[in-house]
Amino acid sequence: MASLSLNGVGVSRGIAIGKAYLLQRDQLKVREYLIPPSLIEMEQERFRQALAAAKEQLDEVRQRIPSSTPVDIVSFIDTHLLMLNDKALAEAPLKLIRERGCNAEWALKLQRDALVAVFEDMEDAYLRTRRDDVDHVVNRIQRILLNQADNIEGMMDGRLKGQVIIADDLSPADTVTMQNEGIAAFVTEFGGPNSHTTILARSLGIPAVAGVGNALRYLRQGETLVVDGFQGTLLAEPDERGLAHYQLRQRQEKRHQTELGKLKELPAISRDGLVVSLQANVELPEDMAVMDKVAAKGVGLYRTEYLFLNREQPPDEEEQFEIYNKVVKRLHGRPLTIRTLDLGADKTPGHEARPEVRGVVTNPALGLRAIRLCLRDTTLFLPQLRAILRVSAAGPVNMMIPMLASVQEVQQAMVLINQAKQELLQEGIDFDDSIPIGGMIEVPAAALLADVFAKQLDFLSIGTNDLVQYTMAADRLDNAVNYLYQPTHPAVLRLIDMTIKAGHKAGIPVAMCGEMAGEARYTRLLLGLGLTEFSMQPAMLPEVKSIIQESDVEQLAKQARRVLRMSSAAEVDAFVEKLNSQS
Ligand code: PEP
Ligand code: MG
Repeated sequence: MASLSLNGVGVSRGIAIGKAYLLQRDQLKVREYLIPPSLIEMEQERFRQALAAAKEQLDEVRQRIPSSTPVDIVSFIDTHLLMLNDKALAEAPLKLIRERGCNAEWALKLQRDALVAVFEDMEDAYLRTRRDDVDHVVNRIQRILLNQADNIEGMMDGRLKGQVIIADDLSPADTVTMQNEGIAAFVTEFGGPNSHTTILARSLGIPAVAGVGNALRYLRQGETLVVDGFQGTLLAEPDERGLAHYQLRQRQEKRHQTELGKLKELPAISRDGLVVSLQANVELPEDMAVMDKVAAKGVGLYRTEYLFLNREQPPDEEEQFEIYNKVVKRLHGRPLTIRTLDLGADKTPGHEARPEVRGVVTNPALGLRAIRLCLRDTTLFLPQLRAILRVSAAGPVNMMIPMLASVQEVQQAMVLINQAKQELLQEGIDFDDSIPIGGMIEVPAAALLADVFAKQLDFLSIGTNDLVQYTMAADRLDNAVNYLYQPTHPAVLRLIDMTIKAGHKAGIPVAMCGEMAGEARYTRLLLGLGLTEFSMQPAMLPEVKSIIQESDVEQLAKQARRVLRMSSAAEVDAFVEKLNSQS
């Protein structure tokens, strides 16, 4: 039998081999008809009962969640339970039944479409996945109304062990239900790196490929599948050679993971004795559990703006202080670098849509973002500055300012920091007067003037995510120009090099906290350019550490500078590959 190969996006790393289990859920066929006025109340009651049954089902899933389950998984289920109580789902369909005489399924469908339209307009990829939440909850109610049982929950009797689940989409409740069934891998037709299933699969350590269009049509029940979560590929009915190849890779990967696990307590020191600092990027306090698993030496980037998203009112000084304080305590003396608010662009506060959605044509990534927004709106900035200063009395805290483009911004920020310090002094509140204040280098102007910035700041941290976007003039969210989004473009590398040199010349630390810092294929290049402080997603840390331990930095320093004279990312990439293959 010929093999079939399909492509998607690798969203959870790992290789799995197993039998395909096609989760064919009956398409929900919603009939639309009018209800005579005399039966409206009965129809409303039918809807209420379906809603109550949906809650009961989800409550049961919630109760069956083992205590070892990561908190993010539990919170997805809680979100769905909350949605079932929300007016938008619990009351709006009742109104449609009463006012328009729709049947319950039709009313629910109309309300679903209205809610989804709001989410579709959102540019933020994460918020767009909220649309999935609406669908998952609505489908659960529809199935009850239509008397169509969900075929997952009744299937948890061990028969899915070792199988590759193929579905159009999976809800968090599906994933939780299946988590202890020994599933080999997940493959979905929809979803991407930010979808919930993906996040769940990653935290459960199960390989997953998303976005495999028509997978349910092309694959057959029970056939052997190889899922490559690194490459995002799927191989059905592999021939003997193909199977042997993947079995070997699977064994290698397992060995590799065991080896990496052993590195946890070992320091990140190169072969020639250079000590490298490996820290973690943290978005929410809950992320800290993973950070401990890999023994990160501190938090090199705490993205505080996540505390401001999805809520009507920003957190006040007290609330921020409490949260920062919890993080500091949790670190037991390891340093915490708190970045001041980086709101704006794709991260808008509250439930506000991006400016272009409001109908104003702007270029949000180049607009009122991060420090620019904070200097404009000191009612937002000052409470945060006070909260950060207050928490600096509780442990080693650094304050980091994002998106700097001119030194005036540093000076203005310093004025406000001093103002906050004076206020605290007068109020007799404790803080560390010599708290280090650093800046992110993520705008080319700042990299070009890194020597000037280095004189005014206590440390620098290179934010490659934005530095690449602004240097290449390629929106980091726009897939159409992602071919230009090249961290190894010599222009980007020269700016990185200038920043590292400027920091060292001024005698201040230089770190990197953009995604490039966690990409193991760039570790040697960056070591060669003189970088000694890396901050990254915690899961990346063991791999980067193992590369550091196998590198001779003095040798790399002699070679790496050559990239600064190269003319294209392709040339650099070829060179980096050679650098990485040296033993
Ligand atoms: C960066 O730009 O590299 C960075 C770390 O900041 P963010 O990704 O939050 O913009
Ligand atoms: Mg940035």
